[in-house]
Amino acid sequence: MVRALVVEKDAEGKTHAAVAEVSEDQLPDGDVTVAVEYSTVNYKDGLCIGPGGGLVRTYPHVPGIDFAGTVETSSDPRYKPGDKVVLTGWRVGENRWGGYAEKARVPADYLVPLPEGLTTRAAMAVGTAGLTAMLAIMALEDHGLKPGQGPVLVTGAAGGVGSVAVATLAHLGHEVAAVTGRPDQADYLTSLGATQIVAREDFAEVTKKPLESELWSGCVDAVAGVMLGRVLKQMKYGASVAAIGLAGGAAIEGALITPFILRGVNLLGIDSVMQPYANRLRAWQRIAKDLPMDRLEAMIEPAVLSDLPRLGAAILKGQVRGRVVVDVRG
Ligand code: NDP
Repeated sequence: MVRALVVEKDAEGKTHAAVAEVSEDQLPDGDVTVAVEYSTVNYKDGLCIGPGGGLVRTYPHVPGIDFAGTVETSSDPRYKPGDKVVLTGWRVGENRWGGYAEKARVPADYLVPLPEGLTTRAAMAVGTAGLTAMLAIMALEDHGLKPGQGPVLVTGAAGGVGSVAVATLAHLGHEVAAVTGRPDQADYLTSLGATQIVAREDFAEVTKKPLESELWSGCVDAVAGVMLGRVLKQMKYGASVAAIGLAGGAAIEGALITPFILRGVNLLGIDSVMQPYANRLRAWQRIAKDLPMDRLEAMIEPAVLSDLPRLGAAILKGQVRGRVVVDVRG
């Protein structure tokens, strides 16, 4: 039997999440069975622990969109028992059982070997959020971002993606301006390397202005909504915004065409879910090389499976700071 966080749906359509034992036979099909050590709490996990948000197809369900652990059995020649692996994406934890269990079974193609220098715990302190932050930074670099061009803006900064983006950009030598709606997190963001704290309210109003003062040499945006509409108008000439999330709304409110045609601004969409193996490997190798591991510890809130119903609800309200690392054996 395997301990897991199991979400059930009752006759009235309400979901209930609790720690329970499931049979190993219930794990989905796949080439590789992994003894999971750590998973994390991401925004999508909040949806899957709770009402599903249209992501979960069948119940009972085991959420957990990322995990790191040790290969137990493998019918794929790329992996053998004892190998350390990490998984993000591919709708694991959404339309198939995920990492909130002592064991997970997945197709070998979904896995990445744990890069040298990373522990399974550190890999999950990074997790889907950190991988996404790194993919965003790599996309900005591919579009010309270099240190010394002026401040890079990070929105939703105290959240998971935001925290890793702030720490990594600062470590790479960028000035980082962190936007947060939680003024009490200013010290935390400064400790990650932010050189400027910007209030969320500064971006709260839709304006009709076609452009604003050029302020930012790049942006990692986790929020969208009104904030992204304003940010686009404040980008420097030729700069890029890597849009990774929609914590503030699914539209870009108040956006005009002007930043694109008068300032050559680029809007880059980042999707971590369906990244091909080569891209995921490259991003994980960059993480092992360029993420400030000393700052990673400050981002971690440790948790065990029984904490997940509470934490799933908290992340949907924007109340989680940094990265929740779940020891599934705890
Ligand atoms: P978190 O909840 O950890 O962080 C989101 C942050 O956004 C919050 O901490 C808060 O930061 C800010 N925020 C929340 N609500 C609002 C609001 N209404 N208006 C303005 N700011 C708000 O989530 P993650 O960092 O894990 O994920 C962020 C987004 O990115 C989510 O939408 C998620 O689904 C998406 N995502 C996308 C991925 C991809 O592949 N593209 C991968 C991973 C996540 P603060 O308190 O500092 O203001």
